[in-house]
Amino acid sequence: MIAGVHSLTDVQGKILRNHRRFSETEIAPHANEWDRAGRVPREVVTAMAQAGHMGALIPAEYGGAELNMIEFGLLNEAIGFGCSSVRSVLTVHSMVSQAVTRWGSVEQRHAWLPRLAGGEWIGAFALSEAEAGSDVAQITTTATPEGDGYVLDGAKRWITYGQGADVFLVFAGYQGRYSAFVIERDTPGLSVVPIDGMLGTRASMLAELRFDGCRVPRSGLLGRPGFGLAPVASAALDIGRYSVAWGSVGLAQACLESSLGYARERRAFGVPVFDHQLVQRLITDMATTVSAARLLGLQAGEMMQAGAPGAIAAVWMAKYFASTGAFRAASDTVQIHGAYGCDPAGAPQRLFRDAKVMEIIEGSTQIQQTMIARLVPYEERRT
Ligand SMILES: Cc1cc2nc3c(=O)[nH]c(=O)nc-3n(C[C@H](O)[C@H](O)[C@H](O)COP(=O)(O)OP(=O)(O)OC[C@H]3O[C@@H](n4cnc5c(N)ncnc54)[C@H](O)[C@@H]3O)c2cc1C
Repeated sequence: MIAGVHSLTDVQGKILRNHRRFSETEIAPHANEWDRAGRVPREVVTAMAQAGHMGALIPAEYGGAELNMIEFGLLNEAIGFGCSSVRSVLTVHSMVSQAVTRWGSVEQRHAWLPRLAGGEWIGAFALSEAEAGSDVAQITTTATPEGDGYVLDGAKRWITYGQGADVFLVFAGYQGRYSAFVIERDTPGLSVVPIDGMLGTRASMLAELRFDGCRVPRSGLLGRPGFGLAPVASAALDIGRYSVAWGSVGLAQACLESSLGYARERRAFGVPVFDHQLVQRLITDMATTVSAARLLGLQAGEMMQAGAPGAIAAVWMAKYFASTGAFRAASDTVQIHGAYGCDPAGAPQRLFRDAKVMEIIEGSTQIQQTMIARLVPYEERRT
């Protein structure tokens, strides 16, 4: 029984418990150590691939697990419960996998998807630049046609798992529009500069990617030239946002379980701190947030799976609610743990730092606060 989980069917509960077992043995016990070291060991990603997790969204014919969206969500909850840095690697790799599955030519799918599914290739998603985050239309990296391919110039920043990835999905300006390229790490003209010591998801091995006359063969272009930003990046970001929504559910669930355990053990004024009503209130809010965030995740997953018209708005809502709720839950978890909550040896301070990142990536809180209003379906009626 997972504390506070009421909203899942028996089958969904079983899937979550299976993934949780993996997360609790392979990931959660090491999360603090990886956070301090600033890296997720490659063996962990390999273990994830061997368990089928890195091929989560890849069709079975290419060696993937071909999960439906609810199953993918539950996987992200379980991994996010154990470590948000590992979940971040799963997120960006799944974004790349989805983009190749959806937009790749037959040759590209056959060449790349089995490697992505098996963990031979780990993918990273490279859109942001030093001067372009929320406003992605400001990217200045360019692709110039030359010979039988393209030459890329520019730089991408804050690329999750940039330090470890084997292949990058890169967006660059091309004749006034944007194109998507799949670029292998050892391509001449591409250099990877590590970014260490980020506030949160510190083990997710961020990097800056520098393209200096980087020659990409024509076979590296994903989709048509000038076809990159709207279809390829947007669809990948929908997957990323959905993954972060569920990862935030897992993070908040970790906060809840940690707070429940500590509050029952720690004593103050002759009783467990759990018996103080103000502490109960914090835990009540946390448990309610986790349940509601999970329900929004389930709604978004069902709508995505069905291709329902409101699916995009449902994903935004799920991510908005789960990420802001996870940050509140993590802050209250530090509060309940008192000084232990601030101690570098414990999980609460890591959960708090990781939770803040959830409010910035895949659409910041402020972007969501304006986007959702615009996405809410509205039919004008005379009364
Ligand atoms: C840990 C981490 C991992 C990341 N991984 C990746 C990755 O793998 N790949 C990748 O491409 N990028 C990645 N990023 C970058 C991330 O996508 C951007 O940080 C994010 O899009 C926000 O952009 P920005 O940081 O440039 O903030 P800005 O867009 O400059 O925003 C600054 C502030 O202004 C607010 N703001 C901006 N526009 C508006 C508006 N219209 N209305 C109201 N408020 C607004 C924002 O909410 C924010 O508070 C990562 C970032 C972090 C922190």
